[in-house]
Amino acid sequence: MLRLSEAVGRLSTENALPVLARAMELEAQGRSVINLGIGQPDFKTADHIVEAAVKALRDGHHGYTAAAGIPSLREAIAADLYARYGAEVDPDLVMVVPGGKITVTFAVLMLGEPGTEILYPDPGFPPYRSVIDFTGAKAVPIPHREENGFAFSAEEVLERITPRTRLLILNSPSNPTGGVTPRGEIERLVAGLAEYPDVAVLSDEIYDQIVFGNAEHTTLLSYPEIRDRFILLHGFSKTYAMTGWRLGFGVWPKSLIERAQCLSINFHSCVNTAAQYAGIAALQGPQTAVATMVEAFERRRRVIVERLNEIPRVSCLLPGGAFYVFPNFTATGIDDKTLANRLLEEAGVATVAGRDFGAEGSGYIRLSYANSEENIIEAVNRIGSFLAEEGGG
Ligand code: PLP
Repeated sequence: MLRLSEAVGRLSTENALPVLARAMELEAQGRSVINLGIGQPDFKTADHIVEAAVKALRDGHHGYTAAAGIPSLREAIAADLYARYGAEVDPDLVMVVPGGKITVTFAVLMLGEPGTEILYPDPGFPPYRSVIDFTGAKAVPIPHREENGFAFSAEEVLERITPRTRLLILNSPSNPTGGVTPRGEIERLVAGLAEYPDVAVLSDEIYDQIVFGNAEHTTLLSYPEIRDRFILLHGFSKTYAMTGWRLGFGVWPKSLIERAQCLSINFHSCVNTAAQYAGIAALQGPQTAVATMVEAFERRRRVIVERLNEIPRVSCLLPGGAFYVFPNFTATGIDDKTLANRLLEEAGVATVAGRDFGAEGSGYIRLSYANSEENIIEAVNRIGSFLAEEGGG
C-alpha cells in the first residue's frame, strides 16, 4: 500500500474543475448544459499575441530562460505597472511564473509552517486555503460579507493578527464575489499594518483591469510604507484571455526575491519561452481587445444581475469587478451545495456552490458571466423555472 505524505493529504481541490468535468459528461449524453461554472474569459487571445509566440519559436527561442523570466518581459511588466499606476518597480524584483497561482503558492511555502498563522479571504480563491493547510500553518479566514459589498473590514483584519501571523492574503477585485475593496478600507488597513512590521502582505490583483462603472481598483503597490514586505500577484490569464498559456508574475520585496527564484529553479526552471515573448506583445501591443472584453463583461453583468433579482427569493449585488456574481439564495431554503448540484443535474446550469470558496460563502452560489448574453439569459431563466417548480414562489 502506498503511503501519502500528510502534507499532500491536506491539499484540497478547486470545485470549479470537477463541475466542468460533470458538465461535459452530461453534454456527451446529449443534455444541454450552460456553463457558468468556470472562471475564464470566453474570448480568444488577440492575434498579435499569438503571432509573437509563433515568431519566437520560428526565431529559435527554444531553450530555457533565466528562472525569473527574460529581462525584456520583466522590464515590460515594470513599465506597464509604472504607466498604469505610477508605481516604480525594479525589474529585478519581478518574477515571471507559470500562472498567477504560483506566486501565492511560493509566498505561502516560504512563510507558512506549523506554529504560524496566515490570513486569507473567505469566501476566496480556493488554493489560498489549500496551500496554507499544506504547509501546516493555521489558516485564519477574513470574512468578506455581503453587507460590506464583499470587501474586508480593516478592523476585522487587524484584530485577527497575532504574534504568530506571518502573511496576510488580500484579493480585489475578488473571485468569487466580484467585490472591489474601496480605497478607504485599504488605507485604514495599511495604516494599521504599521504596528505589525513582521507581517508580509500578498495582494492578488489578477483582475485589476476588469472593473466597471464607479468601482476603482486600488493597488497595494501604491504604499511605499509596506513595500519591503509586499508581494504583488498578477498575470496575463484574465486581462489578455490567456488562461491556457500559463503566464503570470509576482513583484517581490528585496528580502524574498532570491528565495522565490530558488523555488522556481526547484519547481519549474522557467516559464515556457514562447509564452514569455507573447507576454511582451500583450503588454506593448494594442489594448483594444482588453477594452472590448471589459465592455462585454460590463453589459453582461447588468443583464445577469437584473434577471437574477427578478427571481423571487434571490438577491444579487451588482459587483464592481472580475466576471462573477455571487447571488444570495438563503431565502430559498435550499443549501448552496444541493442547489448547485441540482441546477447542474436537473436544470442544465453549471455553477459553483458558495461554500466551495469558504464557510462564509454558504447560502450563495458563484456564477461566472464569461459566456454569451444569450446563454446567460437562458441560464437565469432555467434557474428561475427550477426554483418556481420547487414551490414557495
Ligand atoms: N487569483 C485569482 C483570484 C483567480 O481567480 C485566479 C484564477 O482563477 C488566479 C489567481 C490564478 O490565475 P492563473 O490561471 O494565472 O494561475
